Amino acid sequence: MTLDETKQLYDAHIMRTYGRAEVAFVRGRGCILEDTEGNEWLDCLAGIAVCGLGHAHPAIASAIAEQAGKLIHTSNLYYIPNQAAAAAELTSVCDLDKVFFGNSGAEAIEASIKLARKWGKQHRGGAYKVITALGSFHGRTLCALTATGQAKYQEPFTPLVPGFNYVPYGDIAALEEAVDEETVAILVEPIQGESGVRIPPAGYLRAIRDLCGQRGLVMILDEVQTGLGRTGKWFAHQHEGVVPDVMAVSKSLGAGFPVGACVARGEFGDVLVPGDHASTFGGGPLAAAAVTAFLRTMKSEGVVENAAAMGDYAADALTRLAGSQPGAIKEVRNRGLMIAVELCDPIARGVLTALYERRVLSNAIGDTILRVVPPLVIGREEIDRFVSALGEALIEVRGTPGAS
Ligand SMILES: *Cc1c(COP(=O)(O)O)cnc(C)c1O
Repeated sequence: MTLDETKQLYDAHIMRTYGRAEVAFVRGRGCILEDTEGNEWLDCLAGIAVCGLGHAHPAIASAIAEQAGKLIHTSNLYYIPNQAAAAAELTSVCDLDKVFFGNSGAEAIEASIKLARKWGKQHRGGAYKVITALGSFHGRTLCALTATGQAKYQEPFTPLVPGFNYVPYGDIAALEEAVDEETVAILVEPIQGESGVRIPPAGYLRAIRDLCGQRGLVMILDEVQTGLGRTGKWFAHQHEGVVPDVMAVSKSLGAGFPVGACVARGEFGDVLVPGDHASTFGGGPLAAAAVTAFLRTMKSEGVVENAAAMGDYAADALTRLAGSQPGAIKEVRNRGLMIAVELCDPIARGVLTALYERRVLSNAIGDTILRVVPPLVIGREEIDRFVSALGEALIEVRGTPGAS
């Protein structure tokens, strides 16, 4: 199908929930995508921080194809060997113990909040309130949307779910202040992704860990975007040497196959029992095969180490670019390959378009921030290509180098 035919069918039959670029991709390899017209693109977005192993990795393709030829679905009424293997792999790269599989990030958040609420009934006299951060993003289902501290996403859908408070991100005093007798949990992202790669002050997660310990709260981390190697460690909380009680994981977990997981530590792994929570598809044979293959390949190919090294390399190259075009880039910030380029002027959309014209995919957040979250298997040459395309794009949008 051509792009024009595709667009006609969209107009007729797809709800208009997304603004889309004028391109459709049909195949890929590593960090390269090919569109309907046969053009090659450099992918520095990875399906929004999803395709950690790049596109069409042979280990993932064969794991999914082999499993699809044997069995796709049976339900959680029966044991699923792949689900057990996937959970064992996932808990081998963090200090948490038990997994509930769903199909998305929002579902991982829903499971985490339900777990915390039930724990509150059992151990905290019915405490049920969850504190989250302003500017956070936790997903679009009604409860995950309520957890999301951004009025613009919530406003069309009120009334929301009761029992949420919001505090400024990175502010531990505000968190201490907000905890009351009815509070059961604190839920934050280790780095805020959707609102522009906002990195909290050092010690923030450690302070939340201590606060949760002192006040008997469940510490829930949303590692949906930061997890699975993105920040140069398996999970972002490992940079501060803390362990959450509950963690939501998704995005790259199935290397592009839809899957999410709520992962819990110690006693928190035993809170939900038969009848409490379920998912028809969660942890099915196909998704679990993708998860197992993804995690094993990440380990065998040293991809987390690559993400750390390439994150440093990209940050250096982008910082040099900033130096070469004074007045263009206000700040480059990153943890591993979770990167933001904050521009001095509100030209992010124009720069994104100029990158598209060079067949480079990235993402704009608001008017000033470019988010760069490439596949974790990216190499030096591809980063060089991205940085030089960005340099050209900035010159094109701003006029001559140095002019403002
Ligand atoms: C993407 C994202 C989600 C939501 O995941 P979905 O799969 O779209 O439901 C939740 N939290 C964070 C931090 C995310 O980046």
